[in-house]
Order: sequence, then C-alpha cells, then structure tokens
Amino acid sequence: MTETSSTKVDMEKIVSLCRRRGFIFPSSEIYGGLSSCWDYGPLGVELKRNIKEAWWRAVIQERDDMVGLDASILMHPQTWEASGHIEGFVDPLAECKSCHLRWRSDDLEDNNCPSCGGELTEPHLFNLMFKTFVGAIEEEANVVYLRPETAQGIFVNFQNVVNTTRKRLPFGIAQIGKAFRNEITTGNFIFRSREFEQMEIEFFVKPETDKEWFNYWLEERLNWYAKLGIKKENLRLRQHTKEELAHYARECYDIDYLFPMGWAELEGIANRGDFDLVQHASSSGKSLEYFDEESKEHFIPYIIEPSAGVDRSTLAFLCDAYEEEQEEGETRVLLHLHPVLAPIKVAVLPLSRREKLVAVAKQIYADLRHQWMVGYDDAQSIGRRYRRQDEIGTPLCITVDFQSLDDEQATIRDRDTMNQIRVPISELKKTLQAKLEGEPLFVLPPGGSIWKVEREER
Ligand code: ATP
Repeated sequence: MTETSSTKVDMEKIVSLCRRRGFIFPSSEIYGGLSSCWDYGPLGVELKRNIKEAWWRAVIQERDDMVGLDASILMHPQTWEASGHIEGFVDPLAECKSCHLRWRSDDLEDNNCPSCGGELTEPHLFNLMFKTFVGAIEEEANVVYLRPETAQGIFVNFQNVVNTTRKRLPFGIAQIGKAFRNEITTGNFIFRSREFEQMEIEFFVKPETDKEWFNYWLEERLNWYAKLGIKKENLRLRQHTKEELAHYARECYDIDYLFPMGWAELEGIANRGDFDLVQHASSSGKSLEYFDEESKEHFIPYIIEPSAGVDRSTLAFLCDAYEEEQEEGETRVLLHLHPVLAPIKVAVLPLSRREKLVAVAKQIYADLRHQWMVGYDDAQSIGRRYRRQDEIGTPLCITVDFQSLDDEQATIRDRDTMNQIRVPISELKKTLQAKLEGEPLFVLPPGGSIWKVEREER
C-alpha cells in the first residue's frame, strides 16, 4: 500500500535532507557559519548547474533572438549612480534601544522590537550594496560595489552586443551570475541570502511593442517552471500594485511559488521602458540609441526583464519534488526531480561485492560516465541503496546480478514507480537515454522484458 503525503513539506525537512545528503551546507560551518551565506555540496552543485543549463538552453541555445554575456561583478561606480542604486537601493532600518538588534521597519507592525519588545529608534535608510575598495588605498575615491543585480552589466554592454553581433530588434541578452545584497531580513534557508545567483534576461524591443513582449515573457517563463516539473497549483502570477512598483518599472509581475513559508517571489518580470538606456546614455555621454534600418529611425529601445534567482529556483524545485510515501510501514522519501535537473541521472548497483559482478558493474559505470553524472554504490542491501538514490532524486538505477554474468542483461529500476525492466547490457545506453527523455519504462528494447511490476503506474 502506498500513500503519497498531500501536506506541503516543511522547511526543516528540506534543510535536513540538504544537509544530510550533501546538497547545501551553512557557509564556513567549522567557524560557526556566516549568516545567510550557503555552500552547495556535491549534489547541490549538480542540481544548481542543471537548473542554470536548462535555463541557458531554453533562453539562448534554442532561440535565434538571444545571446549570452558574462559581465564582471565589479563595475564602474557611475553605473550605480545612473541606475539609481546609490540613492534608491535602500531599506529603512530601526535599532532596538534595549537589545540593539536591528530591524527592517517596513516589515514591523508597530514600533516595538520583535525580540524583546523594547522601543525602536527612528528608522534610517540603509543601502543594501556591499562596498569595497579598488587598489591599496581605502579612500572614498576608490570605492566600488559588489553588484546587487546582474542586469546593469547587460545595459552597459548593449551597444557592444549590437555592434558585434548585428542583432536586430527584438532581441535579448541573457546572463547568469552572482549578485550581492546586504539584506537586513534574512532567513528561510536559501530563499534570501546575502550572496546569490541570478539568471537575467534583458529583452530589447521597439517601444510600441512592449506590451506584447511583456505578455509573451510572462507566459514563457511561467511555462519554463511548469515544464521542469513544478506543479501548476504551486505557481501564480502576481501583479505589482502602483505603490510597490520600482522606480524604473512601467509594469511588473512576480512569478510566485508556494514555498513552505507561503507564497513568495521566484522571479520578477518587469517592463523597464527606456529607463536604463536613457540613464546610462546621459551618465556616460555615449549614445545608446538603436538605428532601425526599416524605418530609418533612431530611438532608445524598451526593455522587458525576466529576472530569476538560481537559489530560489533550486529551493522551489527541491520543495516541489519532495515526497514521502508509506511503504509497508516504512517511509520512503523521494525527490521527484525532473530527469533534466536530477544531480545523478543513473546509479549502478551491483547486487554483491563479488569480483565478477563488480567487474561487470564497473564496466557499465565507466561506459555511462561519458554521457551522464552516474553514481556507483555497493554498500548495504539493495533496498537501502534504492532508497538512498530515491532520496536524492536519481531517476534510474541499474542492478547487476548473478544472472547478468550468464545472460549479459541488467535491470533498470524506475524511481517513481519502482517498476523494473531487464535489458541486454548492449542496449543499456540507448534505453537509458530514451527513458531519461520521457519514454515509458515498459517500452522495451530488442531482447528486453518486464522484470518487476511494483504497483500500478501513476
Ligand atoms: P524580494 O522582494 O524578495 O527582496 P526583489 O524583488 O528585491 O526580491 P529582484 O530585485 O526582482 O528581487 O531580483 C530578481 C530575483 O533575484 C528575485 O526574483 C529572486 O529570485 C532573486 N533574489 C533577489 N534577492 C535575493 C536574495 N537576497 N537571495 C536570493 N535570491 C534573491
């Protein structure tokens, strides 16, 4: 009897799984950790890499109208004046007069410290950008900032990309990279951290086509999450009210995900109009106009910006994939990750450590590693090993048993249904490829057979 837990996962379960299995650790943990900074372990780094690759493939590789960029984290300080970050990238901060803890005052219901109830000071504005210095002398003239978003690196390269690629409107530039914010309110694991990664698109369009492209990107980005397995009922679009609209935005929607702590922003999609290019043109004195060959007109393009967070996506994919099933009195934890995202695609499990079996299993392992991240595990019972792979989201396991030595076949076991098929070892690679691309397990290669039907296909 199998039951799937319908209640939403709580954050402690995700944090504990990530810690236990090497997805995510607190940063510099041996020194007690650094608040709101996280390290991705061997499985976490694979998951995160797969998310970034899936995004890059969808927004660049498979499109004619997009190119990539990798701008530096440190930028000319004038960038942040032009963008409005020096003046406007601030949160109101109040300090408790008794315990001296600091709070974001726009998060609080009254003027009392949430920790000790003490009275708070008048709020002062606190800039979220991290400051540092270029060169040996720490003086005001040498101040630079760690970028708080990757977007500005794209705006300042707009003309470079137009000149070198000869891209014509509408087209976009996409970038993945680190961003830093000295957030006051942190917490909720990797949802809000001080160092994080963004995946940003700046899509340049003719001004009169902005609404059309804005709607296009809303749909496109929502579908990206759904195609990679996020349940539709856990995603929603939320329009920004006039009051919360950023200074540069004409219109903005958040793609929200139903995280364990409630609905929260996964990605923001904004119509930035011509704000950024106008600002940088006037601040740098360089023309950032575009010449339209059809209409023979010069103008500043409008920009549609879908801006996603790699870490928040990682958290959403983990939460959405987490399931607990009751199997004959035991709990089976599984990460129902899309095969494209799964850190390990296939695990090779010899039934025992006997030399002859190990030789066959190691040969399969060596062959498959050229193509995918493959695991190899020969410790403990086969049942336990399957559970270990389920818990990290490995879609397929291969078992090599004594019969394999005679019939040169191995079994493939599916994570979600636990059904198994048996296929000739010579057909393994092709069969695995097809299954990872979504072919049903019971479509068999030549010489294959159904081995074990654990329960009805879901
Ligand atoms: P929030 O309102 O939650 O602070 P934001 O509206 O300031 O987010 P944006 O400036 O729109 O965020 O940044 C785009 C994306 O970058 C966000 O949707 C999110 O995925 C990611 N992001 C922003 N700040 C953080 C952070 N401190 N930690 C992790 N990811 C972040």
